Amino acid sequence: MPGGKIVFYTGILATAKTEAGIAAIMWHEVAHALADHGAQRMSANRAKLGLDYLVGKSVENKTEDKQKKILMAYSIGNQVSGVLPFSKKHETEADRIGLELMTIAGYEPKEAAELWWRMQAASEGKTPPEILSTHPSSLRRIRNIEAHIPVADSLAAIIQKN
Ligand SMILES: [Zn+2]
Repeated sequence: MPGGKIVFYTGILATAKTEAGIAAIMWHEVAHALADHGAQRMSANRAKLGLDYLVGKSVENKTEDKQKKILMAYSIGNQVSGVLPFSKKHETEADRIGLELMTIAGYEPKEAAELWWRMQAASEGKTPPEILSTHPSSLRRIRNIEAHIPVADSLAAIIQKN
């Protein structure tokens, strides 16, 4: 929302179910905001800047040597994780960046996949959560998230280890 706030409808809480479920939704929305998807701009670069900022923040208090190691690993990780290509659709982009941010924040990335399984189940119910009108859950989305878990895990491990 304008001013940088992220708002939840309480209706989503039944499907979010756990703190990690809420985190998965929140980081997905943060990823959209960082990537400026609200303005409908293809700006994977902005998202990368946001991620750069967060990674930069996380190394602030480390020694110079450790900072170099982390940042080098991060830049290699970027090339592997595909944050850069402009061809990705917004949702796939937000799913991947959100998954990385969530994992760096200390949550189990597999919880994101489990959230989207619950979303899919909820979409078959009488009152599907509002978010599903703009975020249809699909097997393709879940598989994409699952495939990106190792990248998110290694990125978080690198930051935690150093
Ligand atoms: Zn989205």
